Amino acid sequence: MSETATSFMIGDIRVRAVVDFDPYEMDLNFIFPDVVMGEVEKHRSWLEPTYLTSGNKIRLVVRTMVMEVDGRNILVDACVGEHKERPTRPFMNQRKDTDFIAQLAKLGLKPEDIDVVFCTHLHVDHVGWNTKLANGKWVPTFPKARYLFGRKELDFWMGQPNRHEVGGGSFVDSVIPIVEAKACDLVDDGYEVGKGMLLHLLPGHTPGQLGLDVVRGKDRAYFVGDAIHSPLQVVLPDLSTGFDTDKQQARETRRKFLEACAGDGRWLVPCHFRGPIAHKIKRAGGSFMIG
Ligand SMILES: [Zn+2]
Repeated sequence: MSETATSFMIGDIRVRAVVDFDPYEMDLNFIFPDVVMGEVEKHRSWLEPTYLTSGNKIRLVVRTMVMEVDGRNILVDACVGEHKERPTRPFMNQRKDTDFIAQLAKLGLKPEDIDVVFCTHLHVDHVGWNTKLANGKWVPTFPKARYLFGRKELDFWMGQPNRHEVGGGSFVDSVIPIVEAKACDLVDDGYEVGKGMLLHLLPGHTPGQLGLDVVRGKDRAYFVGDAIHSPLQVVLPDLSTGFDTDKQQARETRRKFLEACAGDGRWLVPCHFRGPIAHKIKRAGGSFMIG
């Protein structure tokens, strides 16, 4: 297993992964309704078995990234969580006895050691561990953390008439309780999480998704959330998912950050790529490749 499978360095910062769910499989045609099979076949040899099954299921991972920066422990995205009612999503429904908190402990971290929880966006698989059940109430899992939510992102979901159904209930049990506990800071494009750590709007998957651009010495990494789901989209950057709120905007956003990564050699850090957590991107004709 390569170094980047469980951790990688941005300058002197070590970024480590905590896996909540793996593999997360979805029919290729469901996640990518516009996919052209001939294009997939050209890449099947390297996509299988890590990223694609022979039965055409896309394989993803759900994980969080943890890093200590200048004395603060920062967690990027909060996965699925436990004890959540997700009747429409069987594999997320009423999970218990997972090892997420134990994995953090293995990294030497207790929930109260986490200073910042940054949610790239507010989908069900990015907010779950924000809260835990205590005496029948949803309370922050990380009691001392400031939770960073995009202002535009929160406004968008707050404005949905069906927000109680968003994420099968995740907005209600994993986002609203953080707002009510006054544990979140609403942040915008350009917000400085720390020295050399800027948030940038990456719209398309959701209207207010934010990416985290970390510059440390000569090294750099871009945490892009769900602006890209699968390595298939590195080679086919125009392929948007069926969950992207604006497919065209998602395409433009994807091409822009892939170009940025190819341009200056910064690490690409997506949420859902199985295997290595960070990737170098190269230009390949009018497209891109990993490597
Ligand atoms: Zn996701």
